[in-house]
Amino acid sequence: MTPLESILRMAIASDGPMPIDRFMAMCLGHPQHGYYMTRDPFGQPGDFTTSPEINQVFGELIGIWIYQAWQNLGAPKKIALIELGPGRGTLMADALRATRKLSDFHGALDVHFVETSPILRASQERLVPSANWHSGFDTLPQCPSIFIANEFFDAIPIRQFVHRDGKVFERAIDVIEEKLSLVGIVTPRTTPVEGPSVFEISPARTSLAKDMAHHLHKHSGCGLIIDYGHRKSSMGDTLQAMRAHTFCDILETPGEVDLTAHVDFEALAHACESAGVRVCGLMTQREFLLAMGVGLRSDALSATLDVPAKSAFLSGVSRLVDDDKMGQLFKVLGVHDTKIPMPFPFATS
Ligand code: SAH
Repeated sequence: MTPLESILRMAIASDGPMPIDRFMAMCLGHPQHGYYMTRDPFGQPGDFTTSPEINQVFGELIGIWIYQAWQNLGAPKKIALIELGPGRGTLMADALRATRKLSDFHGALDVHFVETSPILRASQERLVPSANWHSGFDTLPQCPSIFIANEFFDAIPIRQFVHRDGKVFERAIDVIEEKLSLVGIVTPRTTPVEGPSVFEISPARTSLAKDMAHHLHKHSGCGLIIDYGHRKSSMGDTLQAMRAHTFCDILETPGEVDLTAHVDFEALAHACESAGVRVCGLMTQREFLLAMGVGLRSDALSATLDVPAKSAFLSGVSRLVDDDKMGQLFKVLGVHDTKIPMPFPFATS
């Protein structure tokens, strides 16, 4: 039994079945035994890989987007570039390297990372030594800002509900016959449709999206939220566990497997709009990267590579953009305060 499983069993014994959001929060973020607190999960030796870890063009093109955003803001002398959940810091390192010759821009940038994992903070410090670290939004600088969040919201806890026999149940974790098991606890909530399907909500994501949107509304700026998920709120159980690049049971070895759930972009967009910022039409990752010039950039970068290196490089790019890989499932949501036009490739109404 993992150390975290003993802690979960004690909490269940004293408080009763544990709703999914608390379970996810403990598994991912428990200060001593949480998944992100104890390891660097990325890449081949780890459990999963993210776009910036697949190919440098991803972070580079976002760097160019950030440069445009700064220009749209009127090229202010100081701007906070804030990344939520930066992982190893690869996206930011690539974005900064791709734009390093734009000295006025670099002179204006202050990089801020919102990160809870001490291990990942250490990796980030190696790649972006000039960054400033925060555990939440309260300490962020009060100035025009650009937010980036790649595969951050999928790691933020969700709650799940099922509608059965005229009653709504919240899914929770209990100990049954000595084993961690999924159960339903009756709740007075309602779900949009009756039926056996699971309905997911995420008050934690809503609250983070609102914090970001409030900040942009108050201090001006814009942001990119990139993640896998769906355009419209819909039914379905999307909670998943992953170990060594393979799906596994969500109750297996708590604290030692990655837990994520699809992002409901409709709910996220509502949360941002309710805090006074505008959201721009959701693009697929494919549309976004193609519009930002992924073809030209990858041709230029791969031109001097030998044949095996070129083929590895181009297969990484395909993984980011192909419809059957990350191109369609991953979406890009643009948000901006109404005083500035949203940078290309988003259409500003
Ligand atoms: N953006 C990175 C990493 C994605 S993994 C990439 O694309 O490679 C999720 C990241 O969010 C990790 O850095 C994790 O430590 C961080 N994280 C998870 N929950 C968090 C929270 N509540 N507050 C701040 N960071 C969090």
